[in-house]
Amino acid sequence: METQEGSASKPVIDFHGIDEELIQKMAYDALVWSSLHGLVVGDKSVQRSGKVPGVGMVHAPFALLPVAFPENHWKSACEVAPVFNELIDRVSLDGNFLQDSLSRTKKVDVFTSRLLDIHSKVLEMNKTEEIRLGLHRSDYMLDEQTKLLLHIEINTISSSFPGLSCLVSDLHRSLLKRYGEHLGSDSKRIPSNTTVNRFADALAKAWTEYNNPRAAVMVVVQPEEHNMYDQHWLCAALKEKYPFHLYNTHNVTAIRKTLAEIDKEGELLPDGTLLVGGQAIAVVYFRTGYAPTDYPSEAEWRARLLMEQSLAIKCPSISYHLAGTKKIQQELAKPNVLERFLENKEDITKLQKCFAGLWSLDDSDIVKRAIERPELFVMKPQREGGGNNIYGDDVKENLLRLQREGNEEDAAYILMQRIFPIVSPMFLVRNGICHKDHAVSELGVYSAYLRNKDKVIINDQCGYLMRTKVSSSNEGGVAAGFAVLDSMYLT
Ligand code: ADP
Ligand code: MG
Repeated sequence: METQEGSASKPVIDFHGIDEELIQKMAYDALVWSSLHGLVVGDKSVQRSGKVPGVGMVHAPFALLPVAFPENHWKSACEVAPVFNELIDRVSLDGNFLQDSLSRTKKVDVFTSRLLDIHSKVLEMNKTEEIRLGLHRSDYMLDEQTKLLLHIEINTISSSFPGLSCLVSDLHRSLLKRYGEHLGSDSKRIPSNTTVNRFADALAKAWTEYNNPRAAVMVVVQPEEHNMYDQHWLCAALKEKYPFHLYNTHNVTAIRKTLAEIDKEGELLPDGTLLVGGQAIAVVYFRTGYAPTDYPSEAEWRARLLMEQSLAIKCPSISYHLAGTKKIQQELAKPNVLERFLENKEDITKLQKCFAGLWSLDDSDIVKRAIERPELFVMKPQREGGGNNIYGDDVKENLLRLQREGNEEDAAYILMQRIFPIVSPMFLVRNGICHKDHAVSELGVYSAYLRNKDKVIINDQCGYLMRTKVSSSNEGGVAAGFAVLDSMYLT
C-alpha cells in the first residue's frame, strides 16, 4: 500500500499544561450547552426513558474538546465516500455475488441465513428496486505507524448519530469561541457538519421520487430506544425541510413503528403499496433490524419480508444490508474483485488505498500467522452494533478451537489487520463527570446515495462523526457504552 502523507493526530492543545480550573469551567459550560441544545440520550437508570420522549434524559457522553485530525486525511475520506456509495449500489444489484460470497457463512450463521432467505425470495419475485436510497457511514482509523487512514467498515443499515454528531461539532465550536484564546485554538478549524440536514434532504428527495403525497416516511425503531433523540433530530429536520412541498397541502409525515407493530398493522396492496395502520409508506428508514436480538420472534422476520416485498423505498434494502456485511467487505478486498463492479481505475485505487488487510479463515497461512501473533489481528463475526469482535489472546484461542473442531464454523468469521491509532490524553465527559484518560479516535464519514433508474440524484459525503474511546477498550460503540461522541480539529 502506498503511504499517504500527513502527521498522525495529536492533541489539539497541550493537555499537560492546561489549568484544572479551566477544564472544570469548560466542562460545566459544556454540560449546560448539551442540556439546552438537545445533545441528549435516554437515561437508562430512569424507567420509561427509552419509550417516552421527554422522560429521563441525560447528556450524551462527549469529549470535552475536538480531536486533532490531519486535513489531508479528512479530504481523502470525503473524496472516497461517493465511490463507496457507487460500489455498494453496484454490489447490491449482483444477487449472485451476494449469495455466493455468503453461501458458506449461511450454513453456520442463522442470522445471516435468514437475511439471505429474504434476499432469495425477493430475487425470485424478479423485482428491481428502481429507487434506491443509501444513508451510510464509513468508519476509519488513522494507523499511527504507517500514517494510513484505514477503513474499518461501512455501515449500510442504521448508521447512528447523524443528529447528535452535528451537535457535538456545534458544542466544540462554541467552547472554542469562548475559550479558544486560552487554549490557543481557532473554532474555524472544526469543519462544518451538516449530516442531519443532508440525511433529511435525502429522505425528502426519496419521498418526492416515490411520488405519492399522501405516503409517509416510516422510521423502524426498537421497542425501547435510548438513542431516540438522535432519531428525532433527523425527523425534525425532515419536517422542517419540506413544510409545504410541491403538492402544497401535504408535508412529509414521519411515523415510528417497531417491527412487531409493522407485522400487526402492515399489509401489502396488490399494486405493491405498503400500508401500515392504513397509512401508505413511501420510505422505510431502518434504525433497527441489524442484530439477531432485533428479531425476538417470527413476527419481526415477517415484517422485514413484508416491507422488502413492497414497493416502498427501503433504506436499506435487503441487498444494501447484505452488501454492507463484513464478509462482503472481505470479498471486495480480494484482488480483481473491485474491477467487477467499478470501471474507473482511479476510483479503484482510491478504495484500495484505504483497505486494511482482510482475510477469510480458509486462508491457512493467515490463520497460522494469527495464532502466532494474535495481537496483530481482529476476528469478526457477521454482526453489527459493537461488542462482537474478538481481540488479543481470544483470537488465538478461537482459531485453535475452530481448527480442533474442524467444522465449517470458521465461515462465520473474517480476520482483519488490527489498526493501531495514536493514543493521546483526552478529557471525556460522562454522566456529568469529566475525567482525563488515554484515548484513541475513530472517524466516521456519512454519505447519501439516491438514484431512480439511471438517474443518480444524490451521491455525496454528508458530514462526520468522531468517536473517542479509552485506549484500553477494544470496541468503539457509543450506544454500547465504549466510546464518547467527538468532533475534529483540522491540522
Ligand atoms: P460493528 O459492526 O460491531 O460496529 P466494527 O467492525 O465497526 O463492528 O468494529 C467495532 C469497533 O471495533 C470499531 O468501531 C473499532 O473501534 C474496533 N475495530 C474494528 N476493527 C478494528 C481493527 N481492524 N483494528 C482496530 N480496531 C478495530
Ligand atoms: Mg462499527
